Amino acid sequence: MGEFDLIERFFKRPAQLAQLAQPYLDVALGIGDDCALLQLGPNEQLAVSTDLLIEGRHFFANVNPRSLGHKSLAVNLSDLAAMGAKPLGFTLALSLPSIEENWLTEFSKGLFDLANLSRCPLVGGDTTAGPLSIGITIMGKVGKGQALKRSGALLGDDIYISGALGWARLGLQFLQNQLKHPLSEADQKQCIKALEWPQARLALGSALCQYASAALDLSDGLSGDLLHILKASQLGAVLFEDQLVASLGTLDYWQHLTVQEKAQWALAGGDDYELCFTAPSKHRHALEQLSQQNPQWGRLHRIGCTTANQRCAQLSADPLRLMYLPEPR
Ligand code: ADP
Ligand code: MG
Repeated sequence: MGEFDLIERFFKRPAQLAQLAQPYLDVALGIGDDCALLQLGPNEQLAVSTDLLIEGRHFFANVNPRSLGHKSLAVNLSDLAAMGAKPLGFTLALSLPSIEENWLTEFSKGLFDLANLSRCPLVGGDTTAGPLSIGITIMGKVGKGQALKRSGALLGDDIYISGALGWARLGLQFLQNQLKHPLSEADQKQCIKALEWPQARLALGSALCQYASAALDLSDGLSGDLLHILKASQLGAVLFEDQLVASLGTLDYWQHLTVQEKAQWALAGGDDYELCFTAPSKHRHALEQLSQQNPQWGRLHRIGCTTANQRCAQLSADPLRLMYLPEPR
């Protein structure tokens, strides 16, 4: 049983939600998106998300604690960005094997530097002895009807991603000695930075509320994550191989790969924390301008479009070489 089947089977209880939710607390969106949305008065919604990082699974035991503090919050901010929500605050559940002052000083420095930058204060939490794990619950707000859900994509919408894909995975595979080709020193620096210091696309997410029909953040890799949008919106997709390749940005490493390998690398990513979103084609010009005016968000790449075909992965004719479609329902 996969993670998503497990959640579906044991934790998704829409009937219970309808029964138990207080009449004054309207749950506008429950399990299944980057954040849940709770109605706050007539015009605003509270966006809530939790992410848990476990030593050995999400980070190496010897990782720089300052970067770990940063990343723990960044991955949560990224879920807010994916909904187009603005940060309000977060709680921290920390399980620690022992109290090491140097480690805690560095970890909290990384955490608070990003909290301050994002105007997102730590407002509570819990601390216990145990294997090292970091659980953060983050809260944000978004105007009613503004949030970028996974289910809003329409037939024929363009599909975009922000920034450069695949760098964090390259950094991870380098640290695990799994790369087939050598990684230059310049690439090592950039890829480890991408892995350990991800940047949540908060400003981009907010700006996209005007244009995008659906969005999520790329945490598991584009091919799997895009399927969440396609499934929720009951659509298929065609992806443009040349744009997938372009979305890798410039690293020395790519010259070792064939075009097909490059496209696969972009699809398989993981830990990218870029946004993937859909938008009607009438917004192409506006999105191109938005991208040019905000180089700090990384370039927006239009990597494909949605289709009605919901069948499994297929190849189509050049230049639309790759199609990734959801499994039959
Ligand atoms: P993300 O990668 O955006 O953080 P996940 O893939 O972790 O999202 O989770 C998918 C959805 O399932 C989210 O809406 C999340 O809130 C929900 N979810 C995950 N685990 C649980 C759980 N144990 N109980 C309830 N909901 C869960
Ligand atoms: Mg997410």
